[in-house]
Amino acid sequence: MKKGPLYKIEGIRLRRSEPSAGELKKAAAQALGLPEGAVVSCRVLRRVLDARGRRPPLFVFNLEVETEGVPQAPATEAREGVRVKRGGGDAVVPPLLTAPRRPGKVVVVGAGPAGLFAALTLALNGIPGVLLERGRPVDERVRDVEDFWSRGVLKGDSNVYFGEGGAGTFSDGKLTTRLRNPYSAWVKIVLVEAGAPHSILIDAKPHIGTDRLRLLLPNLRRRLLERGWEFRFRSPMTDIIAPGGVMRGIVVGDREELEGDHVILAVGQGAYDTYLLLHRRGVAMETKPFAVGVRVEHPQALIDRIQYGRWAATPGLPPAD
Ligand SMILES: Cc1cc2nc3c(=O)[nH]c(=O)nc-3n(C[C@H](O)[C@H](O)[C@H](O)COP(=O)(O)OP(=O)(O)OC[C@H]3O[C@@H](n4cnc5c(N)ncnc54)[C@H](O)[C@@H]3O)c2cc1C
Repeated sequence: MKKGPLYKIEGIRLRRSEPSAGELKKAAAQALGLPEGAVVSCRVLRRVLDARGRRPPLFVFNLEVETEGVPQAPATEAREGVRVKRGGGDAVVPPLLTAPRRPGKVVVVGAGPAGLFAALTLALNGIPGVLLERGRPVDERVRDVEDFWSRGVLKGDSNVYFGEGGAGTFSDGKLTTRLRNPYSAWVKIVLVEAGAPHSILIDAKPHIGTDRLRLLLPNLRRRLLERGWEFRFRSPMTDIIAPGGVMRGIVVGDREELEGDHVILAVGQGAYDTYLLLHRRGVAMETKPFAVGVRVEHPQALIDRIQYGRWAATPGLPPAD
C-alpha cells in the first residue's frame, strides 16, 4: 500500500502512558497544523516519562505519522518542545551478511545472552551450528536455583550463573545500553517475538523483568532449532583442540571431541575454570578492572516519592525506576 507523506514528531506531551489511537492522532494533527482527518496513522517510536520540575509528570512521545495528501510544509524548529521532521522513524537493521558464506562447522559455547544472539545472528544468515551449554534447560534450572535459595543446595553447573540464558536469566532484564549499536532495535524485536512486552520497543529505559525472562528462553531455543541448530545442555567445554594454533574443535565433558572450524566462546564472566583452561592453552588474555555490582533495595513508595514528589499518588503513573 502506498504511504502518504511521513513525519517524525518529537516531544508530544500527554498525561496517559497508553493514549488511544484517537488521542495520538489529535496530538499529531495539532503538531503538524493539519485537520485531524489528515492523519492516517501514528506509530509510537519512543516514550519517556518526564517527572522533572514542578509540573505533574507527563509522558513524552516521539511519533511516526503518516498523513494524507501533501500538507503544508511543517515547521521543523522546536515549538513548545515539539519538533517535526520529514521522513519516518529509523528502519530496523537486522545483522544480515551481504554475502553469507558457509563457514564450516560452527560451535557456540554458552547459552547466555551473548551465545544465544551469536547463534541467532548466524541462524538468520542461514548458518547452522551447535550451541553448547554446561547447565540445564531453564525449567530445570529455575528449580535448582529455588532449591539453592530455600535449602542452600548449590549445583555446580546449574545455578544463578550457569544454565540456559546464562546470568541473564536471573538479571533484572534492564535493557539499557550506552552503545549506539545499529542492531539494538533488532535485538529488542527478537525479544518481543519471543514474548517480551511490546513496551521495550518504545520505552527510553526498556525493562523486561526477571519473571518474564525465563519465559522467553524456550521460544528463543525453538527459533534456533527450527533453523537447524543443535542445542546441547549438560555439555561443558573442557578443552580446545587447536593444533598449531588452528581451530579444529573442542572437548566436551570427559572425552567427547566435537569438530568445529569456528568456536565462539560466550562463557560469561563466571566461568573461572574455562578461563584457567584457556590460559593454560596459551590463549591471549588481558586483565580488566574489577566491576562490582551492589544491589540496594528500597521500598517502592520511597522511590516514587523521590522521583514524583507530590505527584507520587497520581493514578496511572508507573512504579518509578
Ligand atoms: C543478579 C544480576 C542482575 C543483573 N541485571 C542486569 C540487568 O538488569 N541488565 C543487564 O543488562 N545486565 C544485567 N546483569 C548482567 C548480565 O546478566 C550479564 O552481563 C550477561 O548475562 C552476560 O551475558 P553473557 O552471555 O556474556 O554471559 P552469561 O550470561 O554469564 O552466560 C554464559 C553462559 O555460558 C555457560 N558456560 C560457561 N562456561 C561454559 C563451558 N565451559 N561450557 C559450556 N557452557 C559454559 C554458562 O553456563 C552460561 O549459561 C545482571 C547480572 C546479575 C548476576
